[in-house]
Amino acid sequence: MYYIGVDIGGTGIKAGIVDEKGNIILKSSVPTEKGIDYKGLAKSIYNLLQTVLADARIAADDIKSIGMGCPGTIDAKNGMVVYANNINLTNAPLCEELKKYIDKPIYIDNDANCAALGEFFALGDDTVSDFVAITLGTGIGGGVVINKKLYSGFKGAGAELGHMVIEKGGEGCSCGRKGCWEAYASATALIRETKKAADKNPASYIAKLIEENGGNANGKMVWDAKEAGDETAQKVIDQYVENLSEGLANIINSFRPEIIAIGGGVCRQGDNLLNPLKDALKGKIYGGDLTESSRIEIAKLGNDAGIIGAAFLGK
Ligand SMILES: [Zn+2]
Repeated sequence: MYYIGVDIGGTGIKAGIVDEKGNIILKSSVPTEKGIDYKGLAKSIYNLLQTVLADARIAADDIKSIGMGCPGTIDAKNGMVVYANNINLTNAPLCEELKKYIDKPIYIDNDANCAALGEFFALGDDTVSDFVAITLGTGIGGGVVINKKLYSGFKGAGAELGHMVIEKGGEGCSCGRKGCWEAYASATALIRETKKAADKNPASYIAKLIEENGGNANGKMVWDAKEAGDETAQKVIDQYVENLSEGLANIINSFRPEIIAIGGGVCRQGDNLLNPLKDALKGKIYGGDLTESSRIEIAKLGNDAGIIGAAFLGK
């Protein structure tokens, strides 16, 4: 038997057929129509499912269930998108609508939760029962697995790990609060601080890299500049790692998962990120050396985590 995972995003909808072991057999995507309502969205998801099934030559009878990951607040129990600002859905009974087209068990959850579930299965380790995954992107997405099950709180609105405050009265956040972790440790925050530092130090190598790129910074440049020995870049990274460690320490002290997996573009830095991060965490963990802390790892699946996790909502 196979599962289908659907990853609904503001710009595109991705769907993949996933086998029992979590391998994607085939995937495809379509753009998300601007201003589409939930009925139109269900129709376009159904059309996409038809395409992937036909392309993979798999019969609908061989599909056990369908799972969808969607940004925003999701009422998983009732199959509803309560609120998703970037696709304009409010109190939308998406599962019920899709069921009109295809008679299978259909599940839905928040996209970051699905990604966390995907990464949890990708561990392939039955001994792990508590797990947290975070994705450092435009914001910080997070998902919490407790006792091998997703934990998303009342009406699915919990586990918003990016919105814990680490600097009271600090940088403004998209959620309306000030000083959220996301405003300090997302890729967006790293790029903002890189630009700020380059403006202040126009003779630095990082300033030169940005200038050569038409004045635009990205999340990788600061690491390249650091590698080349640039002190300004080193300072930006030191501060970024410190900010990242503050939120991670809060997660460890709240949940003490066995493993925290970190995903997002910055993770391509591998040990260049992990090693200073582990140092920065020292002294911030409750119980210190007397307790065994969470293992910090780089996420395994990256972009496919959403599809695989959504597919396994029904597993
Ligand atoms: Zn926030």
